[in-house]
Amino acid sequence: MTDVKRRGVMLVLSSPSGAGKTTISRRLLGADQDLKLSVSVTTRAPRSGEVDGVDYHFIDRTRFDRLVADGAMLEHAEVFGHCYGTPATGVEDRLAAGKDVLFDIDWQGTQQLMRTARADLATIFILPPSVRELERRLHIRAQDSDAVVRHRMEGAGRELDHWQEYDYIVINDDLDRAINEVRSILTAERLRRERQVGVAAYVGDLRRGG
Ligand code: 5GP
Repeated sequence: MTDVKRRGVMLVLSSPSGAGKTTISRRLLGADQDLKLSVSVTTRAPRSGEVDGVDYHFIDRTRFDRLVADGAMLEHAEVFGHCYGTPATGVEDRLAAGKDVLFDIDWQGTQQLMRTARADLATIFILPPSVRELERRLHIRAQDSDAVVRHRMEGAGRELDHWQEYDYIVINDDLDRAINEVRSILTAERLRRERQVGVAAYVGDLRRGG
């Protein structure tokens, strides 16, 4: 019988900061060998506990601009006064090998990927249960100053308006349920006909009694 293989999924998670996207990502990645995080580059300073090369590649503005000029980024955007971008390295190889890549990026980056890689994308927008809860989560993160939290709360309203540009909406009022919902989306997306390679030959084998 002919093998049916699949092309990997580019799974995009976006949300206003504080909606729980990072927690959901970490839990998914920890439980799924086929899913790997795309580690972004950023000009933002590391928060305490963040590890260079794991959470982000922390680089300066000169290097960032050079990566953009060299065409080494799949997308890039300025968020809250800092530059963020997705390195292109390794993504295509993973997809071709049937492995998935998780992108924790904002709506601007998602729009760019929609223009260049729509067929590979599955996009999810995560909504917080309430604005009060969003603010509470930003405060317990406690690593950002009050001014930064205020700035991010102001930005949250504008980010929320982009929910209509996404394939799926998940409301994170219960973390375990939200994780299961994201996992279900990924499971279904992996099975999309368009991602399956070799089905025609497989069905041909079946028709010949294979
Ligand atoms: P934070 O500074 O809290 O880690 O991230 C701020 C925002 O930038 C989040 O919404 C996050 O998803 C987004 N972000 C992180 N990396 C990238 C990236 O590579 N590209 C884009 N467009 N946004 C990113």
